[in-house]
Amino acid sequence: MKIHNELLELRQKEKRITSEILNKLQEMEDSRQYLAMGHNSLFDYLARGLGYSEATAYQRQACVRLAKEVPEIKQKIDQGSLTLSAVTTAFKLLRKKPLAEKRKVLKSMEHKSSREVKAMFLEPTPTIKIHKTEYRDKVHLRLELSHEQNEKLERLKALKSHKHNVESLLMHLIEKELKLYENVQRKSSGSNENNKFGVTKSKNPRQISKRLRNNVLTAANYRCQYPGCDSTHFLQVDHILPVRLGGDQNRSNLQILCASHNQRKG
Ligand SMILES: [Zn+2]
Repeated sequence: MKIHNELLELRQKEKRITSEILNKLQEMEDSRQYLAMGHNSLFDYLARGLGYSEATAYQRQACVRLAKEVPEIKQKIDQGSLTLSAVTTAFKLLRKKPLAEKRKVLKSMEHKSSREVKAMFLEPTPTIKIHKTEYRDKVHLRLELSHEQNEKLERLKALKSHKHNVESLLMHLIEKELKLYENVQRKSSGSNENNKFGVTKSKNPRQISKRLRNNVLTAANYRCQYPGCDSTHFLQVDHILPVRLGGDQNRSNLQILCASHNQRKG
């Protein structure tokens, strides 16, 4: 019994600490101090700055964001009627829903296990069905689309101009994607000299050619170059010396920043 009582006591402490951490994280999120520390999001701060696993970091971030809109969930997490994983699921799936609906769904999640919560949202995800048969000289792909998927395909076909049928559109998309990757690879094996881009350089310093953009991205290894940041999301080409201060689009004046750090630089 002694061990059990000790564990009960520790469990109480654990709950208290979890709720203290959530409150402190809320302060961190509101002040966004993590930006100056090289983190581009609360998630990144939780994972790299505090050493949480990615899954836990995501849960903590979801709680903080959702608690901002629906503050009463913090109390419910403390009491144990809402689990962190339920809150995470709600955050992910209700993001664009109106506040009243969030409240209602969160209420209905109380005292449910994570599995029950997940089941509340279960919808068959539409995937494209493909039946593949290989022959010696060709491959047969039989494509099965829902009406909705087919409408999207038709819409793209119409937008792309009238010369396409489904077959040519598909080939066009494949070729285009392939070319994009090949271009990036070809450029990354090239040198970094400024004059290499002289030919395509436009007079407008804000305008950066695709080729130059690719070069900067490749050199940055597709990561934000803000000291300490490593983000691979929402990357933008940044003028180290801003254009309004006379910066140009020479290769040496360009770097990659994630949107958060670019915005912070202003
Ligand atoms: Zn960044």
